[in-house]
Amino acid sequence: MAFVSEPARQTPILSRAQVVVLGGGPSGIAAATAAVRAGAKVALVERYGFLGGMGTAAMVTSFCGLHANVHGEIRRVVHGLADEILDRLEALGGLNRTHSVFGKTAAQSYDVGAYKCVADDLVAGAGVDLHLHAFAVGVLMEGRAISALLVETKSGRGAITGDVFIDCSGDADLAAWSGAPFEKRDALAYPTLMFRLGNVDDAVALAEGKPKLRALIEAEEKATGEPFPRRAAYVNPQAHAREWRVNATQIARDGRAVDGTVHDDLRFGEVDGRKQVRRFHDFLRRRVPGFADSYLLEIAPQLGIRETRRIVGAYVLTGQDVLECRDFSDSIGVNGWPVEEHVRGEVQWRWPGPRGYHQIPFRCMVPREVENLLVAGRCASATHEGQASLRVSGPCFEMGQAAGTAAALAATGRKRIDELDIADLQRRLRAAGAFLGEPE
Ligand SMILES: Cc1cc2nc3c(=O)[nH]c(=O)nc-3n(C[C@H](O)[C@H](O)[C@H](O)COP(=O)(O)OP(=O)(O)OC[C@H]3O[C@@H](n4cnc5c(N)ncnc54)[C@H](O)[C@@H]3O)c2cc1C
Repeated sequence: MAFVSEPARQTPILSRAQVVVLGGGPSGIAAATAAVRAGAKVALVERYGFLGGMGTAAMVTSFCGLHANVHGEIRRVVHGLADEILDRLEALGGLNRTHSVFGKTAAQSYDVGAYKCVADDLVAGAGVDLHLHAFAVGVLMEGRAISALLVETKSGRGAITGDVFIDCSGDADLAAWSGAPFEKRDALAYPTLMFRLGNVDDAVALAEGKPKLRALIEAEEKATGEPFPRRAAYVNPQAHAREWRVNATQIARDGRAVDGTVHDDLRFGEVDGRKQVRRFHDFLRRRVPGFADSYLLEIAPQLGIRETRRIVGAYVLTGQDVLECRDFSDSIGVNGWPVEEHVRGEVQWRWPGPRGYHQIPFRCMVPREVENLLVAGRCASATHEGQASLRVSGPCFEMGQAAGTAAALAATGRKRIDELDIADLQRRLRAAGAFLGEPE
């Protein structure tokens, strides 16, 4: 590769915060809000003009991981800030009733527009210094500590200084720039470009179309001789009549999952994804009961990325931890979502044991080698299998709330992260409504 040299320059400081959060997805919304409420001056940096992360930008439009199947009873186990988000969505009329997931757990869909507004109200209402349309591009380091996050904006480059930083970028951008160890597999979970349809016949689609979808996909493949990139396709109703979301595409390049940290893979994935959307919608209209008069309401603004970098932190959560419902003395919340693996052409599910949830250790958010950094959300410290469960919205809200609270305690108390009193953090999380799990 050829290079050009840029002249050295002085970068204006846009904000001086105690806690700086990168990324406004579920983990970043919760982290920034919790940190302000715990008494810190907080800046939140997001590249888009709205918050919500994959939940809005990739139109996931359904909260998973809020519930667990506890000895046969499907229960809400994620609380704290998640409660407030659901209440606010409900008040805006943007929340659906919960729906069953294979009869084994529950999830709950929402409107993208309502989620964007709820996130604004929560974060701005709490007093976070919000930087939208700010693309983070690097860090300044002082020894093993981060001193500033560098961003590019329409008005030029800027720096945001802080005492403690939280990486909620989903891709561990901040952790990678600061030198924290991370893993990124060759065989990543496959991404999906989501889309929504209007004018679906709800009754017919629910009674006939949805139950027959897999068989109809296989029949179409046989008739055309052309396999779909993914046979495990999911169609589900949204909060309002006749509107459905479709989770059906799978984006591979030369047989491998597209990598959300590679610029040219993202270009390829967006264009290939839209081709897949057109083909799948055409199939739904022709073959699947309830969809004959449907139209393409919206394609997600960005490709949905499930997995890229995962930090290697003080504890690495494994698939066995999830399946065996393990407890941890430094629990900051619980997660009952199954191990949901997006492999070539399929989605594979493995369900946790009878207690239905595991505890999430604080140490999953503590990177090695960087002193003043926490990492929450889908890039927290987990194996590929552990992340295939931990990445969904419920645990991301919990990790965010815990990371924000911990970062504020460190910044305002002038403590290092490894000096924090975890029992005190747990008391504060419980007082804020969080459920940290009950030992069997
Ligand atoms: C197709 C698909 C379907 C899914 N289905 C579900 C589902 O039904 N239910 C569910 O609960 N979960 C689902 N998930 C998983 C879930 O949505 C995500 O894993 C979750 O949103 C992760 O939250 P996060 O906060 O870690 O990161 P993200 O949601 O990825 O948010 C990261 C934020 O950081 C911002 N950002 C990243 N880098 C930078 C940068 N350099 N500068 C500035 N901003 C930056 C991004 O714009 C984004 O807003 C799905 C995921 C995908 C891809």
